[in-house]
Amino acid sequence: MTSTVNRFKQAETQLEAKDYKSEVKPIWCAGCGYHGILNSMYKALAELNIDPSQIINISGIGCSSRTPYFVNSYKMHTLHGRAAPVATGAQLVNPDLPVIITGGDGDGFSIGGGHMPHLARKNLNITYILMDNHIYGLTKGQVSPTSRREMKAYTTPYGGVDDPLNPVKYLMGYEASFVAQAYAGQPAVCKDLIRQAIEHKGFSYVNILSPCPTFNKIDTLQYYKELVKNIPENHDSSNYQETLNLINSYETEGKAPIGLLFKDTTRETLDKRMADLVKLVGGSSDYDLNKIVDLAK
Ligand code: SF4
Ligand code: MG
Repeated sequence: MTSTVNRFKQAETQLEAKDYKSEVKPIWCAGCGYHGILNSMYKALAELNIDPSQIINISGIGCSSRTPYFVNSYKMHTLHGRAAPVATGAQLVNPDLPVIITGGDGDGFSIGGGHMPHLARKNLNITYILMDNHIYGLTKGQVSPTSRREMKAYTTPYGGVDDPLNPVKYLMGYEASFVAQAYAGQPAVCKDLIRQAIEHKGFSYVNILSPCPTFNKIDTLQYYKELVKNIPENHDSSNYQETLNLINSYETEGKAPIGLLFKDTTRETLDKRMADLVKLVGGSSDYDLNKIVDLAK
């Protein structure tokens, strides 16, 4: 299926998922949910038919932060938790390019947690694909901000003391303009939500639940099977309060809502406001960092 999206430069011919694979093969463990998420990402990019030379994929540190190595794109594997500020700079000087952050729960909500609210409140035109396996995998199994209290890990041999953070509720709290949740075991849903997130103009956040069979021994495939539950087809994703109520009711039920939860297309993006500001002070209507630097002299 070819998307009708036209705000990104299209490839000259219709590309396939394989065209978005880099020459580097994933080195994730067998059974890791990230393999499926990566394949969904390839398919979403192929549906959008974006010219790979236009894509910017940025990550922090962690197993999922290795994703840019495997994607045919421009990329930067930055510091732990620091994908967001790097992506912010990349997006503001390249407002017409798709900027995608890929990373995990520890990187995004602990080390880099201070950045998440600002991506949302500034409505940066960035897509954040957060692969949430409820554990630190790369550092061999410590509890993360989304781990359940029952998690016995190297850092919590008797179980944890903190309640887990609910990512989609958190993003709703900061009024992100696109909030969705998927599960790695449902690749078609993953692909659709990633595609919609990239198409969205504004900050789009997709939380993708994913098993880490190597270190997370309690969040098994059976656990996820019982945890995930599709949201009703008639959910009004433009209704903020209805979405919050939905997330709360699923939480009370002990379920993770899967689908497009919230989408607000009315908010201005930061690059638009920056361009307006440049124009206001007598600069070019074309957003250009060099011109801004010239103005400051
Ligand atoms: Fe995936 Fe866990 Fe292995 Fe990392 S340690 S590659 S998250 S299964
Ligand atoms: Mg993790």
